[in-house]
Amino acid sequence: MISVLDFLVPAAYFIAAVMFIYGLKAMSSPVTARSGMIWSGVAMAVAILVTFVHPEVKGNYALMVIAIVIGGAGAWVTARRVAMTDMPQMIALYNGMGGGAAAAIAGVELLKRGSGEVQMDTVTVVLAVLGGIIGAVAFSGSLIAFAKLQGWLKKSWRFSGQQVINLGVFIATLALGVFLIIGEASPTVLLAFFGLALVVGVLMTVPIGGADMPVVISLYNALTGLAVGFEGYVLQNPAMMIAGIVVGAAGSLLTQLMARSMNRSLGNVLFAGFGKADEDGPGLEVSGEMRSIDATDASIQLAYAEKVVIVPGYGLAVAQAQHKIWELVELLQSRGVKVSFAIHPVAGRMPGHMNVLLAEAGVPYDLIFDLEDINAQFPTTDVALVIGANDVVNPAARKDTSSPIYGMPILDVDKARNCIVVKRGQGTGFSGIENLLFFEDNTRMLYGDAQKVAQALIAGIKSLG
Ligand code: NDP
Repeated sequence: MISVLDFLVPAAYFIAAVMFIYGLKAMSSPVTARSGMIWSGVAMAVAILVTFVHPEVKGNYALMVIAIVIGGAGAWVTARRVAMTDMPQMIALYNGMGGGAAAAIAGVELLKRGSGEVQMDTVTVVLAVLGGIIGAVAFSGSLIAFAKLQGWLKKSWRFSGQQVINLGVFIATLALGVFLIIGEASPTVLLAFFGLALVVGVLMTVPIGGADMPVVISLYNALTGLAVGFEGYVLQNPAMMIAGIVVGAAGSLLTQLMARSMNRSLGNVLFAGFGKADEDGPGLEVSGEMRSIDATDASIQLAYAEKVVIVPGYGLAVAQAQHKIWELVELLQSRGVKVSFAIHPVAGRMPGHMNVLLAEAGVPYDLIFDLEDINAQFPTTDVALVIGANDVVNPAARKDTSSPIYGMPILDVDKARNCIVVKRGQGTGFSGIENLLFFEDNTRMLYGDAQKVAQALIAGIKSLG
C-alpha cells in the first residue's frame, strides 16, 4: 500500500533541490547573495529533516541526531569565529568533509553489497566506486590544502619521479575499483581501495605551491559535488543528485575562471610547480628604488584629483580597512572627485573576497568594476590608490617573461598618471615575488597599516577644508 510518506519524501527532496538551484542563482549577484544563502540553508534543512521520515531509514535516529548536533555546533561556532582572511581554509575543510561523507556512503553501500544485503545494477556499482574514489581524493586533498593555507604545512613536497609514483598509486586505486565492481567487495579490499584513494589525494596536493591553493580548493569542491551526485544516484536521492551536480558544475566553472585569472591551465596548476617562489624567496631581481610619500602629500593628490581608482587587495582584509576606505571615498565624492573600485578576480584570498568586504562597508555596487571593465580607464586616471594589493597589480605579469606570474591578467595601475601604494613595509605578495610597480617613476609608497593610513588620509583631506 502506498503511504503518504511515499509521496511526501520525494516531493520534499524535489522542493529542496529546486531551492538549491534557486539559491545558487541568487548567489551570482552580491545584491541577492545573502538571500541565496538563506534559500540554500533552508533547502538543506528540509533535506535533512525529511530524511528522518524516509521509509528506508530504519532506526539509528539517535546516531543521526548526535552527528547533526556535533557537526552543526562545530560549524556554527567556527563559522562565526573565522576571520575573513581565513575563509579559504575553512572552505577547504568543509569541502573535504563533503567529499569524505560521499566516500563514506560509497563504503557503506559497497559493504552492504558485499555482504549480499543489497543488490546493485552495474551502473549503480560503477557510480558508487567512482564517487568513492573522487570523494576520498577530495577529502584527503582538501585536508592537505587546509594544512597548507593554515601554515601547518609550509613546504611543497617535490621529488624526481613523483608524477610516475602518483600515476602508479592512481592506477592501483583504479584497479582495486574495477575489482570491487566485478569481484568481491570484502572489507579488506574496500579498506585497501579507500586507503589508496586517500593517498592519491595527499600525493596530488603536497607538491602544489601555496599560490595555487585557491584553484586546487575549487577543483576539490567540484570533485566533492560530483562524488555527492554519484552517491545520490546510488541512494536514489534526488536532492543529493541535484545538489551534487549543481556544486560540481559551479565548482568546475569557478576552477576554470580562477585558473584563467591566473593565466594557468588546470594541468599546469596540478603538475607544474608554480608558487615555488613563495617558498624559495623572490624570483626576480629588480633595479631602481622605491619612493615614499607621506599621508599629507597623498591627501593633497587625492583631494585635487578628478578621477581616482581604488584597488583593494588582501592587505585591506587583514587591516579590516573597508569601513575607513568607504568613509574616505565619501569624503572625496563630496569634493567632486569621481571614485571607482577596481576588483581583480583573485584579489584577496578567495573569489569575491573584496566584493564581500566592500559590500559589508556599504559601498554601492555601481562603484565596483571588474578587471575587464576598468583596465581601459587607468590611462585617464589621476590617482590609482592601491590598498594592500600586490600580485594583482604587478606589471611583471605583462613585462617579465621569466616571472612565475607572467601572463596573469593584472589591473594596469602602472598606466595611471600617479599611483599610490599603501602597505606596511617591504613584504611581498602571496606569490612571493618582487613587484615592478613599486619601482615605477609614477609610483609612491605610502607605508602603514591600511586602516591607519585611511584614517590619516581622511584627516589630511579634512584639514584642506
Ligand atoms: P597579495 O597577497 O599579493 O599582497 C597583499 C599585500 O598586502 C602584501 O604585499 C602586504 O605587504 C600588504 N598588507 C598585508 N597586511 C597589510 C595591512 N594590515 N595593511 C596594509 N597592507 C597590508 O594580495 P593581492 O590581493 O594583490 O593578491 C592576491 C594573491 O593571493 C594572488 O597571488 C592570488 O593568486 C592569491 N590568492 C587568491 C585567492 C582568491 O581566490 N582570491 C585565494 C588564495 C590566494 P606588507 O606586508 O608590506 O604590508
